[in-house]
Amino acid sequence: MGEHLQASLTGGALSKDAIDANFEDLHPPLNAQQVNSWANRCLFCYDAPCITACPTAIDIPRFIRQIATDNITGAAKTILSANIMGGTCARACPTEILCEQQCVLNTGEHEPIEIGALQRYAVDYLMDTTNTHPFVRGPKTGKTIAVIGAGPAGLACAHELARLGHDVVVFEAKAKAGGLNEYGLAAYKMAGDYAAKETKFITDIGGITVKAGKSLGDDFSLSDLRDKYDAVFIGIGLTKMRKLGIAGEALAGVSNALDFIETIRQTSDLSTLDPGRDIVVIGGGNTAIDAAVQAKRLGAKNVTLAYRRGLAQMGETKWEQDLAATNGVMIKHWANPVEIIGENSVKSVRFEQINLQDGKLCGTGDYFHICADRVYKALGQTLVTDELTALKVENGKLKVGSDGLTSVAGIYAGGDCIAPGEDLTVQAVADGKTAAIAIDKMLAIDKMLES
Ligand code: SF4
Repeated sequence: MGEHLQASLTGGALSKDAIDANFEDLHPPLNAQQVNSWANRCLFCYDAPCITACPTAIDIPRFIRQIATDNITGAAKTILSANIMGGTCARACPTEILCEQQCVLNTGEHEPIEIGALQRYAVDYLMDTTNTHPFVRGPKTGKTIAVIGAGPAGLACAHELARLGHDVVVFEAKAKAGGLNEYGLAAYKMAGDYAAKETKFITDIGGITVKAGKSLGDDFSLSDLRDKYDAVFIGIGLTKMRKLGIAGEALAGVSNALDFIETIRQTSDLSTLDPGRDIVVIGGGNTAIDAAVQAKRLGAKNVTLAYRRGLAQMGETKWEQDLAATNGVMIKHWANPVEIIGENSVKSVRFEQINLQDGKLCGTGDYFHICADRVYKALGQTLVTDELTALKVENGKLKVGSDGLTSVAGIYAGGDCIAPGEDLTVQAVADGKTAAIAIDKMLAIDKMLES
């Protein structure tokens, strides 16, 4: 069990104080002494490999040197000029497979520089100590761009466009902006309503109007926006939940892991939630881990994460796997769910043990049950293409060029909805910014041709 994790013996028996403690920030911020120590260990490498490992190419040695010379605001500006969501990425990025993995000090004998924690220190400092936005909008261009989706890709695109002098209208289907940062990450990774704070910071540059509760298909069409605006950016993510397609999937107590995570993120008093007693999470990615660990931290007694493949094929990082293990989550590999059993509500899940034969998953004919009063499905999501038929789709995602341009002129896309899409906030931010720069160039060329 984690150092601060308090366990429930029976499920649902934790006090409010215990649950609040379980959902505190997983990585508390560094203090000034720790910051000073880490910043002074950096070698400020020329051609630093940590930069190339970051999809937004933050100049890491530069911002660490600025921290080391006590220019914390300057460090934050270095970070945010490359990645306007540097605060979320500092909290939620898998740095252990990105910048910190590539740090030259990461030799096995020595630890890498804590780049994420230093980044958080600088960005938090700037956001907490100034009311003046660090970026100034360029001269107004008179152009307005529609952005569909207020997740990381959409907000990063909107911010860069606003910085370049364009006006932006962001259409968001949900009640709040922020996308997965607001609704889909474990609460202990985004403690203290940070997603909302960051969204306000991003839009405070000016020129960005967020229209929440407006969805593609119900409230507007793609062609409406293309006709009305100078360009369109699509950052809608993947919203259609995959199904198991087995008996019992409609029983009470069976739901999507992302819905469970959203409920946790949008509930102010977590002690009012009934965590259940025996939980089965089906899936093998970060969403599965986020659901399983949070169920345990809410007080569920038995939490089992069942995955159809082996440890090596799991989508989450080693760090996430260790987090699950240290929180008492049982991970069951090579388990294929074949039936969810219950009368009105779920009572257990029946699995077939499977193995790999000549690269194919094959049933062994051995079956087992796991008791469950809650089942959370974390099977991944797919793109809803009903309203996007005008655009080319490749492997179930929007086909775009390196600048984010789709198959239709004036319509750009980024984030999880494009091919290949990497399911990383930092990649979505990079996509949004790249598309914004391309849109700006396209509009400048159009203007030249008009004059
Ligand atoms: Fe500093 Fe490591 Fe990056 Fe080198 S690779 S600049 S030591 S953080």
